[in-house]
Amino acid sequence: MMDRQAELKSHLETVMTRIQTACAQVGRAASDVTCLAVSKTKPIEDIDCLRAAGQTAFGENYVQEAVEKITTLADPSLSWHFIGAIQSNKTQLIAQHFDWVHTVDRAKIARRLQDARTGAPLNVLIQVNIDQSASKAGVLPDALPALVNEVLQCSNLRLRGLMSIPDPVDETALKQAHRDLKVLFEQTKTRLSSSESFDTLSMGMTHDLEWAIAEGSTLVRIGTALFGKREPKEAT
Ligand SMILES: *Cc1c(COP(=O)(O)O)cnc(C)c1O
Repeated sequence: MMDRQAELKSHLETVMTRIQTACAQVGRAASDVTCLAVSKTKPIEDIDCLRAAGQTAFGENYVQEAVEKITTLADPSLSWHFIGAIQSNKTQLIAQHFDWVHTVDRAKIARRLQDARTGAPLNVLIQVNIDQSASKAGVLPDALPALVNEVLQCSNLRLRGLMSIPDPVDETALKQAHRDLKVLFEQTKTRLSSSESFDTLSMGMTHDLEWAIAEGSTLVRIGTALFGKREPKEAT
């Protein structure tokens, strides 16, 4: 039996090869795309194994669990991305411990993160409800320009791009969602002054990273392909 270290290293190599192949197919440089290792519900030992294999960016969904991992590892060479739903009573901890937040979807949350952040600005992506599903988080495309303006007012936040989690209906719908988000990303970028570092398009997960990269993703969020299946967990 392979030990966990060897297993995780081999999963990481497989994912990096998938990213490189997907980039090559559409003439993009593999260095254009960041692999975010989504470590929610996974033990700190797993994160340590991936870190030993060279992985530096980690994504977490549950604040309490994440803060424990971040403070235990206490490694400034790692970057931590919050990718879960944001409750307003958690903004203080998020602003204090994370380097990136992918899921800002309303002005109230942006302002609370702004008020709580000290030190280097927090990198922010706005989550867009790209397929306009009723149940899902994310700002609707029509309301995006106003939220962009709100975030730009926040000196402790640095607006870096957009993120979405499309519903996995089928291949056609997913590709369309990626394409739509890319269009919004380019439109928003055009509206901003060139001094803004609006450079990150967070889309694509284990099952659709190739399609997302083909449509312009610069950051794929990978859980299952790296760590294996997760036990279901209730959001807390
Ligand atoms: C859990 C999660 C992922 C990882 O999904 P996999 O299908 O396991 O790769 C990516 N993004 C978000 C927002 C998630 O919550």
